[in-house]
This record gives sequence, structure tokens and C-alpha cells, in this order.
Amino acid sequence: MSNVMTFDELREDVTYWQRLLRFHGYPCGEIDGIRGKKTQHAEELWLEDAQREMVYGLFDGRTESNLATVCPKAQGLLRRWLNKARLAASATGYEIKLIEGTRSYARQNSLYAQGRTAKGAKVTNARGGASWHNFGLAVDFGVFRGNTYVQEDEPYKMLGQLARTIPGLDWGGAWSGFKDYPHVQLKKYSKVAEAREAFEALK
Ligand SMILES: [Zn+2]
Repeated sequence: MSNVMTFDELREDVTYWQRLLRFHGYPCGEIDGIRGKKTQHAEELWLEDAQREMVYGLFDGRTESNLATVCPKAQGLLRRWLNKARLAASATGYEIKLIEGTRSYARQNSLYAQGRTAKGAKVTNARGGASWHNFGLAVDFGVFRGNTYVQEDEPYKMLGQLARTIPGLDWGGAWSGFKDYPHVQLKKYSKVAEAREAFEALK
């Protein structure tokens, strides 16, 4: 089980996908788990908006795949940040890639089960609805030198800081309390519980 979901995997979970569409302002009718005309139309609008945001830059396949899982508005803002970050990274011999995007509640719950009721090592302390990654708002980035994933905090601080220069984006490294340096998200809610309440209130 991977942390990472593709856009197609998200939309296959129709109930979750309908909720995500509604949450980001794409009316798809009732959340009924049926891919009807309204759902298809809402999905087309999402994809058109996402396409439009591509004027802000195109990136490597892994980054693009993760970008596709967040709402179009976040995609646009993240592309603007990634342009700056890509330049800053290459000037210091690094490469930046998005390595995580949105996870459905179901995927989050299966990850939570790992190391608890299912085989494997623990990978998360968050159940479905308890992670910022469950709402189509958030990504994590990785810094690479060649093919090697960089562990040190410094390049994450430098590149994450740049996200704060894009109005509308929030960087996990600027949070009071736990600093989540690789985490960048659309600034829409100040607490994950608020996002969750709004998300789950949709019927
Ligand atoms: Zn994150």
C-alpha cells in the first residue's frame, strides 16, 4: 500500500470524489456514489480549470501526478511556487519534486491499519479525516540530489519558505508547534478539524 494516489485512483472512489468536487466548488449533485451526468460535468469543469493553471509551468511526471490530485486552485498556486523553487533548487545543485498529494479516507484508513490491525510497519498516526492530505489541499515535496532523497532540513527550509511568497499558500515549516518542512498547502482552514467538519458536512 502506497501513500501516494493517482487522480484516477481518487476518482474511482466515487463517493469520496464527489465530496472532493463539492468541497472545492464543483457542484456534482448529491453525494450518492453514482457517476451520473452531474458528476461527470463537475469533473470536466475541474479538469478544464486544472488545464488552465498549466500556464504557470509544467514539471516532472511525479510532480504532475501529485499535482493532479489537489484542487485546481491549489494546482495553480503550487505551480507558481514550484517555478521559483525549481530555480532556487537548481542554483544549489538540488531538484525539487512533489512526492505526495491527496489521499482518500479509505486509503488513509488502510495506511493507519498498517502496523496495527494489518501487516507492516506503522506509517501514519492519522485516520481518514485527520490528515491535511485528505481534502485536496495539500502536498509534500522532496528534495533530491541526483536520485538521492535529501534528508537534511536546510534545503526544505529554503524551498518551503518560498511558498510563503505566494499569497494563498501555507507552509508547514511556518506552523507554531510541530514543523512540517516538506508540507505546503492551500491556505483555507487553520485547523485540520475545521476542514474535516466542512468536508463531512456535505451530503
Ligand atoms: Zn504533508
